[in-house]
Amino acid sequence: MSIELLLDNLFSAAAADYRRVIINLAYLLAAVLFVIGLKGLSHPRKAVKGNLIGSIGMLIAIVVTLLDRNIISYEMIIIGFIVGGAVGAILAVKIEMTAMPQMVGLFNGFGGGASVLVAGAALIEATGAMASAPPSTQMTVATVFSGFVGGITFWGSLVAFGKLAGTITEKAVLLPARHIINILLTIAAIVLGVLIVLDPANPYYYWYLVAAASVLGVLLVIPIGGADMPVVISLLNSYSGIAAAATGFVLSNNGLIIAGSLVGASGLILTKIMCVAMNRSLTNVVFGVLGPTAGGPTADDIYAGKVKATSGEEVAMILEGARRVVIVPGYGLAVSQAQYQVRDLTNLLEARGVEVDFGIHPVAGRMPGHMNVLLAEANIPYEKLKEMDEVNPTFAQTDVAIVIGANDVVNPVARTDPSSPIAGMPILDVDKARTVVVIKRSLSPGFAGIPNPLFAADNTLMLFGDGKKALLEIIAALKETA
Ligand code: NAP
Repeated sequence: MSIELLLDNLFSAAAADYRRVIINLAYLLAAVLFVIGLKGLSHPRKAVKGNLIGSIGMLIAIVVTLLDRNIISYEMIIIGFIVGGAVGAILAVKIEMTAMPQMVGLFNGFGGGASVLVAGAALIEATGAMASAPPSTQMTVATVFSGFVGGITFWGSLVAFGKLAGTITEKAVLLPARHIINILLTIAAIVLGVLIVLDPANPYYYWYLVAAASVLGVLLVIPIGGADMPVVISLLNSYSGIAAAATGFVLSNNGLIIAGSLVGASGLILTKIMCVAMNRSLTNVVFGVLGPTAGGPTADDIYAGKVKATSGEEVAMILEGARRVVIVPGYGLAVSQAQYQVRDLTNLLEARGVEVDFGIHPVAGRMPGHMNVLLAEANIPYEKLKEMDEVNPTFAQTDVAIVIGANDVVNPVARTDPSSPIAGMPILDVDKARTVVVIKRSLSPGFAGIPNPLFAADNTLMLFGDGKKALLEIIAALKETA
């Protein structure tokens, strides 16, 4: 070999090494930005900035990946980017706040589906005629994981979406022998996984594995009631991260491994937080059925002759004499979209020297942070939103607690009845306030499906009606007395 050729080879090898180092450093930077972004997301005040920092990390990861794989057809990527970006933007703008959990569910599903397709394509490429060497065991094992977890995530998420969107029955569908079918499907998937590792060139094994995982995804989610879907969606979010991390091992892409692991871990932490806030185990959510217990008190036992209805004028009169008011929002606030009226009422009361705080339960609404997001939309200052531990000791010194569309999170049965489905769930102690005003349309139960003795308590007044309408009545009556 001539000296020139030797030097050329040396330089091109060194250039390839530098290139790898730069690419890996860029992935590391992206990973650091993801972690800083996630940290920001844990606090509402820093959430928007956190989101932006995470997005910049993702942009760096995408650009580096595209530059790294310079055999890619940019036309297809640009077309995919435009179509996907347009669909995402339209959905993000159009979606109702109350439909957010199912949209997140759908996005998780797409993540799982993408992992299945990318890992499958990589396997076909690695075993095709153009491949220089047979795929490594790391790659085939990771492909098995991607196909299995991704298949479960895609179909499980579609079922979760259908249940929340109302296209599939919300009820728990309990198929006979479902546990045996699930075990058989898992065994089939394990056998197929081993076959893929032993004989990666046979493409059918992979798609059979994906088919088994898909059926498993449907069967695992269909027996869970619609009410528990937010927890299931959070769990599937974690699965989509695990599938993405596995795909990262398939492609030997450090960025994808790190990003997938972060999604997997944060989804799992969120699932745990939700379960703790409901005082339920994950096993109880996934395998149990939430609902009223047989033999528990009926709505008639609790409410007959004891419920006192009130009017907007009467509530306004009570508020006139109040010095401290705590507003407790729940799912009904999101349904009636009354956040702006809540803000107007707060401003009106504060202008009269009343101290107003908000009591926020960690699982009020249908997704974590649901109430924080709604109230932030109406520019209610974040300092006013008090977490359960902070606000509970103040209810005894509170003149009026206004409960708007909340039910389970203020149900005292959680403290008193160990057989109740919400037994042990920490609640907001509104019943300790001097007067409680509950705004809801009827005596219908909430998410847990059980009656609420708070509505029949001596110090409770029920203002029946849609949240927004009822608040407008109170505001109008208060203005008249000004
Ligand atoms: P909830 O117990 O589900 O009760 C909501 C109440 O809102 C209903 O009783 C309903 O009564 C009322 N409502 C509905 N539409 C209304 C409207 N337009 N105007 C006024 N009221 C309206 O809600 P919550 O107290 O917020 O409790 C949340 C529940 O969801 C908890 O059991 C929690 O465990 C569960 N959960 C939460 C999450 C989460 O992440 N946040 C996740 C999973 C499960 P009417 O029909 O009589 O109006």
